[in-house]
Amino acid sequence: MSGRVVIRDARLWPAPPEVSAEANVVVEGERIALVTSAPIAGKPGDWEIHADGRLLLPGFVDAHTHLSRRLAQGLSGSRAYPRGYPQLDEPLRGRYERTLQPEDLRAAARLALAEAALSGTTTVFDLLRAPGCAPGSLDAVGEAAREIGLRAVVAYGASERDGAAAVGLQECERFAREAGSGRFGPFVRGAVGLCHVETIGVAALGGVAELAHTNGLIVHGAESEQELADAFDAHGMRTLERLREVGLLGPKSLLAHGNQLNRREAEILAELSGFLSLTPRAALFSEERPPRLEAAIEAGTYAVLGTDGLSASVRGEAPWALALWRRGARPGAQLGFFAIERMVLEGGGRLAGRIFDAEFGRLEEGRIADLVLLDERPATPLRADSACGHLLTAAADARVAWTLVAGRPIVREGVLLTADLAELAARAAQRSDALWRRI
Ligand SMILES: [Zn+2]
Repeated sequence: MSGRVVIRDARLWPAPPEVSAEANVVVEGERIALVTSAPIAGKPGDWEIHADGRLLLPGFVDAHTHLSRRLAQGLSGSRAYPRGYPQLDEPLRGRYERTLQPEDLRAAARLALAEAALSGTTTVFDLLRAPGCAPGSLDAVGEAAREIGLRAVVAYGASERDGAAAVGLQECERFAREAGSGRFGPFVRGAVGLCHVETIGVAALGGVAELAHTNGLIVHGAESEQELADAFDAHGMRTLERLREVGLLGPKSLLAHGNQLNRREAEILAELSGFLSLTPRAALFSEERPPRLEAAIEAGTYAVLGTDGLSASVRGEAPWALALWRRGARPGAQLGFFAIERMVLEGGGRLAGRIFDAEFGRLEEGRIADLVLLDERPATPLRADSACGHLLTAAADARVAWTLVAGRPIVREGVLLTADLAELAARAAQRSDALWRRI
């Protein structure tokens, strides 16, 4: 994109110490070039954004989603939401995933990414399972991310449950190679994805260790009691203990869910500088024991938030994270107000930075300009001791005015610029209707 983006009179959070209540931000290319309280003269060709006191934040990072589930919303097979993980996993998710076709994946990913952009998300970590069409399946997500203009880290969730872990791992390798050569534009990366790790043999896991260390590893794990029992039955140890033994874990590892994470596993993640992606709504909906967030953070694990594909808005997970914390915390423990702010803002930026090898997550000169301007004017003082409360209330629900990825406007005053939202929704409705009939 040529020209600068000039954002005038924005409330910044987190604000650099030198700027006052409202500031001007200049974006040049993909980076923030200037943050100042002083007036800025416009130049021909500038994109002018009149923030007019609205809240500017770093773009949000959805650290765990399943874009392909966008066509599953409402598909419960009964009028009541299924109770518990056993009723959800194989009977519902498994059947849905096996029925997906490439055109379903395309329709789901395009709509889900468009909605993510409209809710202020600038990066997603997506894990796909589509055993009926696994080879080539990740292209649907890569192409959708390029079209909508978001950053995406994409993996296939390899599993031996369908007898095809090798196919899934090959798909991860192929996609990572092609994404690395720029086939899906500069903002799409491929990573290694693992589901039901206890079903996958040591040789297959070892074969992707190098890719996991260079590109990243998304482990769908420690989600349910059943999974934990299966891991113990098969190997006599927990999932993360086994993955460490195989040499797969490192600073680019992301454990998604982690409901059953114990202290030792949290310490393993912390020692290796890996991330734990919590999915509060998914944990509460499936009535699993909530993850011991408190223990994970005490162990030094870096926690981030994901939607699990239940909604487009990862910032909307923040109030649920507090509810989850309250349920899982020791009696009398202090609530992790500030830990939640760290997860929502700093954690996501740090995770994106590891994969894209750049600096995100702060509104400072030189940082990558993945930004979101909320259509919200803070009506109470915005300070270090009040910002988290703000994020959990007004800012969790506010409409998005602008979303920028690497300095490029994707959403302008609430309107998606890169695709026709109504067309995407109509296409998804068409595909989901046919898909549900096949299930
Ligand atoms: Zn998940």
